[in-house]
Order: sequence, then structure tokens, then C-alpha cells
Amino acid sequence: MKENLFKLIPSVDVILKSIEKEFRDLPRSFLKEKINMFLDGLRQDIREERITREHDLKLRIEKRYILDFLKKATRPKYRRVINGTGVVVHTNLGRSIMCPDAIEAVVYGCSHYTNLEFSLDTGKRGSRYSLVEDLLLELTGAEGALVVNNNAGAVLLVLSTLAKGKEVIVSRGELIEIGGSFRIPDVMASSGAVLKEVGATNRTHVYDYERAINPETAALFKAHTSNFRIIGFHKEVSLKELVELGNRYDLPVIEDLGSGNLINFQGNLDINEPTVQDRIKKGASVVSFSGDKLLGGPQAGIIVGKREYIEKIKKNPLNRALRIDKMTLAALEATLRLYKDPEIAKERIPTLKMILMPIRTIQNRARSLAMKLKKEVGDIYNVSIKRGNSRVGGGASPEKDLPTYLVKLVPLFCKNVEDLRNALLNTDPPMVGIIEEDSFFLDVRTLLKQDLSIIPSVLKQAYNFISKN
Ligand SMILES: *Cc1c(COP(=O)(O)O)cnc(C)c1O
Repeated sequence: MKENLFKLIPSVDVILKSIEKEFRDLPRSFLKEKINMFLDGLRQDIREERITREHDLKLRIEKRYILDFLKKATRPKYRRVINGTGVVVHTNLGRSIMCPDAIEAVVYGCSHYTNLEFSLDTGKRGSRYSLVEDLLLELTGAEGALVVNNNAGAVLLVLSTLAKGKEVIVSRGELIEIGGSFRIPDVMASSGAVLKEVGATNRTHVYDYERAINPETAALFKAHTSNFRIIGFHKEVSLKELVELGNRYDLPVIEDLGSGNLINFQGNLDINEPTVQDRIKKGASVVSFSGDKLLGGPQAGIIVGKREYIEKIKKNPLNRALRIDKMTLAALEATLRLYKDPEIAKERIPTLKMILMPIRTIQNRARSLAMKLKKEVGDIYNVSIKRGNSRVGGGASPEKDLPTYLVKLVPLFCKNVEDLRNALLNTDPPMVGIIEEDSFFLDVRTLLKQDLSIIPSVLKQAYNFISKN
């Protein structure tokens, strides 16, 4: 019986001929490999008796079934995902979405030769980060600036330049770990600096730093505590106090600012994120921050500060190992230019726009999405709207809730909402949301315009996925 079924399985070449036209852009060897995978699956299903009748096998080798398999097997691994979590700077979902200006700059800068490392003033070799240096000085008020691959690299580079083999004083309350295994003590160890921890976890005083200063001290270090807050009986030494101390002992004050914000949010929401300008004004010697968190640009580590330190940092050979690529540079310049007018930045940079989205807009979007879903998938989902809270994400303002509206979905075809969650990882595109009270929620704040029209189809796919399995 099984033998007969095996004989009915078509050959690779027969399948290849029948579907070739649809996959003209793919190398044949790649396509053949995937067809073999498909055929192996059939053989296994026959062997393990999931296919036992000729009729079942025939269904499984229908062209649309094969096409479906091959489309999935050959699509890129790096894919679009619908973010219904309401976390704007979602560390696992690609952090910030770049603005159209940045995307355009990347396309332009990568399809031509450019002045990436060529000075158009002298006709000689130039340095890549000098292309955004002036912008950064203008926006932050700093004397010097450079850009590297990411903020973890920036912290490493700064410490390695200013404190290798010497001591750096840090409060115990700021020895943080953030996602993706970035830990201040570990980065410090990699840089060759010696960590000198002071104070208690909840309270550190100026005198704690002062007592730890000795001839081996190279710098005072401050870290934004990112997605972590100490509340209650708590004292942290302010940057201003630290700068005063640093000035008295002629020591640089280095700050890892984490998210890197250039906008004063206070008027709109009370998001309490320090701005880079403010830290420079308060006298920080060197400040580093990310390009793709609150700033809303590409992944990058931006370093600004006093000229004497920045010049040293630029000369560190590690700088070459951490350098940014041309796509990043193009996107960063385009993003930073928008900040020349903060109102334009708020309008055009998706991260800022989502954070500042008026609640009425969110409510209207939730209503129209719910209406659409009731109409298109109301027979398989119970759809309603509920108030909720979004998050900035990316370690910025973790204690701050952003009021929002959620679309609540109760699937009528499965009991366990976890099944829906898993099914939505298998749709095209996949969709991530929030699970609470045995229901599935989509926060409208982080849904893009182009997501809204395909969510009904995604929800239908999830239904099909569960019905089939
Ligand atoms: C995010 C963050 C970093 C790491 O920045 P990347 O751009 O992810 O390398 C370092 N320090 C703090 C405080 C952060 O929040």
C-alpha cells in the first residue's frame, strides 16, 4: 500500500517545470532544494501514516499547495511584523521605524558612489562621521561629536579611551543590565577600565564618590537606569553635583544616557527623559546615546562632549572597529536634520509621532479598525474596544503609561488564546499583540496605516491555521 503511494510522488523535475514561472528570480538549485524538502515531507507523512490514501496524496500535490509551501520556504528570513503591543520602541521588533526622509537617503546613498570618506573641500581622504558632526554640535550644544555602530560600542570606546587600566567610579544604583546582555560592569571590564563601585543600591551621596577618588581614578561615570527605577527611600547624585566634583578633581564625567532624546516632552506628556542638550549644558564631559531608541533614527552610538576628550576618542584604534556604515550615516543625517525644527521632527519621525499621538486620533483609529473587523471577521471573532496603556519602550520613561485604546479580540473558534497567539506567528505577516484576561488585544498606537488594511486577512489566516491543525 505504502509502496504504491511512494510511486505516485512526482519527481523534482516535474514539479520544477510546473512552478518555475512563479519563481523566476530564484536560483534553480535553491528552488530544487526546497522542492526536495517538500517531497521529503510527503514521504515522511506516508511513512508515518498521516497520508494513507491515494486521494489524500493527490490533494497534497495540488499546485496551489506546492506553491504555498515554496513561497513560505523561499521567502526572506528578515520579515515585516505587525506590532500590536503598544510598545513604541520595541527592542525585539526592530526598535524605531525610520522616517521616509531617512529611507530615501539610504536608497540614494547606496545606489551611488558618495563622499563617505572623501573631503570635497580638500579632495583628500575625509572621515565618515565628520558628515554629521556639525549637525550634532548644533543640536546638542557640544564641542565635539562622533558616531559609532551602537551605544554599547560607544560606551566601550569612551571607557577604553579615557580609563583603560585606571579606575572609574560608578554608583551601585546604576550598575544596570539592560536587554541583550549589556551590563555596565561587563562593558567596563571589556574596556580595560577598573570599576570602582560606591554607595548603596538605593542611595549614593556625593561624599561616596569623593572618598573613592585616588590617583588611579580616571573618570566619574553615570548611567541612565533605562528600564529600571528605584522608588521609595532613594538618593542619586545629580549630574550637576557630579560635574562640580569632577571639576574640583579635574576628572571627566562620562554619562551613558541610553535612549538619547533631543525633544522636550514636558509640555505634551510628562515623559521625564533628560535631553542630550540639557546634559551637555549641565557640564557632562562625554555623553553617549543610541540612534534608534527615542531619537527614532537608525542604529548608532552617538558620542558628544568636550573637544579634548572627543579628539582622544576619535584617535582610539577601536573606533575603526566600531565604525558606522554608510546606510546608517545616510539615515542618521536625514533624521537629525529634521530635529533642526522640533515640530517637524515630531511630525515626521514615526517614533515621536506614535508617542505623541493624540488620544482622540487613537480612539478614532480603534473605532474604525473595530468596525472593519466586525464586518470582515465578526463571524469568527468577538470584537470590541477597551482603554489601555502603551509604553515608550527602549528603556525610556518606564514608569510612564501612555493612555491608549485597544481592540479586543476573542476568537470564537478556539478556547485557548495562546493558540491564537501561536497562530499569529505563522501568518503573513506575523502579528504580535497583548494577551490579558484570556483575550487578545491590539494596541492601535503602534499599528501602521498599511497594517490596518491587512489585519482582517491576518486574522482569517490565523483562523485557517488553527482549523487545519
Ligand atoms: C540601550 C542602552 C544601551 C545600549 O545601547 P545600544 O544602542 O543598544 O547599543 C546602553 N546603555 C543604556 C542605559 C541603554 O538604555
